[in-house]
Amino acid sequence: MKFFPEKCKIEDQRMKSFIDPEELWDYINNTQATKERVREIIAKALNKERLTLAETAVLINASDPELIEEIKQGARTLKEKVYGNRIVLFAPLYIGNKCTNNCKYCGFRVSNKDAIRQTLDDQQIVKEVEALEDNGQKRLILVYGEHPDYSPEYIAHTVKTVYGVRKGNGEIRRVNINAAPLDIDGFRIVKESGIGTYQVFQETYHPEAYAKYHLGGKKKDFDWRLTSLDRAQEAGVDDVGIGALFGLYDWRYEVLALVRHTNHFEACYNVGPHTISFPRIQSASDIDVDPKYLVSDEDFVKLVAILRLAVPYTGMILTARESVQVRREVLQFGVSQIDGGTKLELGSYSDTKNEEQNLNREQFVINDNRSLAEIIDELIDTEYLPSFCTACYRLGRTGEHFMEFSVPGFIKRYCTPNAILTLAEYLVDYASEDTAKKAWIVINKNIENMEDEKIRNSIKEKVEKIKSGTRDLYY
Ligand code: SAM
Ligand code: SF4
Repeated sequence: MKFFPEKCKIEDQRMKSFIDPEELWDYINNTQATKERVREIIAKALNKERLTLAETAVLINASDPELIEEIKQGARTLKEKVYGNRIVLFAPLYIGNKCTNNCKYCGFRVSNKDAIRQTLDDQQIVKEVEALEDNGQKRLILVYGEHPDYSPEYIAHTVKTVYGVRKGNGEIRRVNINAAPLDIDGFRIVKESGIGTYQVFQETYHPEAYAKYHLGGKKKDFDWRLTSLDRAQEAGVDDVGIGALFGLYDWRYEVLALVRHTNHFEACYNVGPHTISFPRIQSASDIDVDPKYLVSDEDFVKLVAILRLAVPYTGMILTARESVQVRREVLQFGVSQIDGGTKLELGSYSDTKNEEQNLNREQFVINDNRSLAEIIDELIDTEYLPSFCTACYRLGRTGEHFMEFSVPGFIKRYCTPNAILTLAEYLVDYASEDTAKKAWIVINKNIENMEDEKIRNSIKEKVEKIKSGTRDLYY
């Protein structure tokens, strides 16, 4: 059995492949999920210790329904312990769907002649962002195909355009990116525009499966993509998001590979990924996906719970690809960010004529079509605390999200108060009377639950300021 060192601050591992399929399969094939071992590992995770690959493999191998229930319960407890009841909200904004790659699972693939290609111009971007601001959004992720038109300079330009849009009390305070891998200079250029997270999903960490699904264009190169976020780190983008597209290869392998990727960052840069995404393949225009590895709802819930336990400090993103029911369920097991009011068709936030999805204009089907207002209303009903917080990144508290996890009291001091303040702004500026009424009760309850009197009083003071017109208050 070949092992990569899991924690080895060796600089020469930077920008090198860290994936050895044989190693990952060895872990999966040679660990046993006995009751004692599974319970020991859940207890370790609840003690907020990072799990090793071998320990993660034990959880992956658990098949006894009683143990799976304990894994889910463990993830739920850990989420409550580490993150509390906050859920951060965002929306995707597709900027352009031209693409030179040929990913067999994507409606934007170059070989899809039915795809209607479009790139938003500045005016259209402004209109879209105004519409998003009118809904109360504060955090966006901009999405692009891979195309010579979408150069680092162009991406930076679109980011600045988005930040420049102000409508009423609306503004976008954090712009994240999901785009093709760049070289180091490219990442530098994009960083200077003031981005939050740069996401690149590996899609599958299995080189053979990767080759089967990526037929053309620059994305064919597995290693160029695998090392992309190393180049981001070298360029000073220390806030990166990783992900796997579940359904291309065995989910057990992909979960372990995501943990391996996390170990690589910790070893080389002393910081883990800011977020992990776990999209499941959805149907789309002209795609060609082998159903063999599609992930069932049951396995999906299990894999999210395992990821939560294995990498407790990392944000976990669940998107509107998933149905309302699945989102409701999975939310409990460790998700910290969801999108709301999502639309994928270019230009469709401002042009609301077509309610139905037109798959020749969109990347894939979404299964949660609810508006941001509806999602917030449901979160409130279930006593979650919707948050639009952007404070850490704006105060330079980036790349150190270990803090949330390891600095005692961090969440009580910063995250919960900021969630309350951003929700208060939303209630005053955008919410219906009915939602606002319920949400103020949740806010007051959360304030009263804070142990520290000084913090309690300070939040109350700031909430009063928001009610009388001050905006953008944060800790
Ligand atoms: N072109 C950029 C790239 O490839 O990195 C941006 C990617 S794409 C616009 C965002 C992500 O959507 C992809 O990385 C992939 O994981 C996911 N995706 C693509 N096709 C999908 C499908 N049919 N169902 C669900 N997710 C899909
Ligand atoms: Fe292009 Fe990205 Fe779609 Fe692949 S996943 S075809 S690179 S937009």
